[in-house]
Amino acid sequence: MEKNKKFILRCLLCSSEIADFRDWFKAGQRCPECGSNRADVEYTADVKKLESLTDGKRADPEGLWHYFDFLPLNDRKNIITGNEGIVPIDRWEFLEEFAKRKYKLSCRVYAQRHDDNYPTGTFKDLSGSVVASVLKENKITNYVAASTGNIAVSYSRYLTAAGVNFYAFIPKNASSAQEAEIGCFGQRVFRVKGDYTRAKEMALEFSQQHGYPLAAGNFDPMRIEAKKTMLFEWLRLLEDFPTVYMQALSGGTGPLAIVKGCRELEILGVFKKTPRMLLVQSNKCSPMADAWKEAKSKNFPEGWEKTYPIYHNPETIIPTLATGYPKTYPVLSPLVRESEGEIMDFDEEAVVLLARLVAFERSVRMGPAAAIVLGGFFTSLRNGYLRDGDIILLNIGEGIRRSPGFMEKMIFESKKVTSVKECELFDRKDYKKKLWREVEKYA
Ligand SMILES: [Zn+2]
Repeated sequence: MEKNKKFILRCLLCSSEIADFRDWFKAGQRCPECGSNRADVEYTADVKKLESLTDGKRADPEGLWHYFDFLPLNDRKNIITGNEGIVPIDRWEFLEEFAKRKYKLSCRVYAQRHDDNYPTGTFKDLSGSVVASVLKENKITNYVAASTGNIAVSYSRYLTAAGVNFYAFIPKNASSAQEAEIGCFGQRVFRVKGDYTRAKEMALEFSQQHGYPLAAGNFDPMRIEAKKTMLFEWLRLLEDFPTVYMQALSGGTGPLAIVKGCRELEILGVFKKTPRMLLVQSNKCSPMADAWKEAKSKNFPEGWEKTYPIYHNPETIIPTLATGYPKTYPVLSPLVRESEGEIMDFDEEAVVLLARLVAFERSVRMGPAAAIVLGGFFTSLRNGYLRDGDIILLNIGEGIRRSPGFMEKMIFESKKVTSVKECELFDRKDYKKKLWREVEKYA
């Protein structure tokens, strides 16, 4: 790499150097040499610089662009930001106490509060910021995406700020709140008659017809680089590097970002090994968890990662997790295995209960895709996936404002009354007992 360059892309298939995003976009977001859609970003900045950037006492970041030297943008003037990515990492002792009480397991549990991203209240805001900035720098003025919801909302918000026209294709079961949020910025929404897979097909056809770039899916280096910054925040905010990483799994950019981030940080010697990735899908749309279970039952035979089911039109109440065609599975699943992790599913009927539990215990209001992570925590306890001394990082990927319908379900007990005589007294302690009794059914 030339010294004066800030970064290059490196094709993961043929290893050729791609000078910048201009060439990448010109080749249809592929390697101009071999056509692969997978590339890593490599930086000239010394990784040691991260030591001061993540010094908890000195660093005072406002947004993920605090890590500008390790993000794929050349000129700061192209930054589009809403101070995303810098969110609290809370300790959730109520989960530690439960693990201790029921399973005699000592662990520390942290919640990285991506529900707290101001712009649209989800983990996707990190991607929104980086994608919008890179498009601006490369003078791209039209962009197309298919989305189960959250990412289109975030892109819409950020691309508006970048002056980019945005075309979003959403599946028929996306919520009208999502549709409204995408559209309210003056961007264009197409609700497709069909599922997410169909929305993706139509978005592709539309983008080819007009020659507009299509949001590249889960291997998109812009998205992976954006999400990678969550690891830098672990260094800044936590005393110890997590041994377990948990998130709700839809397409899989998050886990790919974990692996990329760990590769970048390796030289600093700040962790012993890549955290075990414990990934959770809704039981109503769990192609990766099902494929994993099948492969595991056969002791991972040769070529196991190439076998997975495809679910058309999954009926799920968490459309943001409804990736029925798990294209990343062949790449992602061996990485999960290497990390000694697991892919599991959880009963989505129980997410309301878990969201209530967190609202009660920590006054945090999560969206359904975030609540499913809690389900994964309890499943992992029950199945013995957690170990004594583990430092567990839960990625809380979305807040409640993404799903007003879910918020309505969170009401625990309310009663229509006509006179004060009907209004009995209550004690929060009883509510707590009742809540945990319900939760224990899943733990
Ligand atoms: Zn290549």
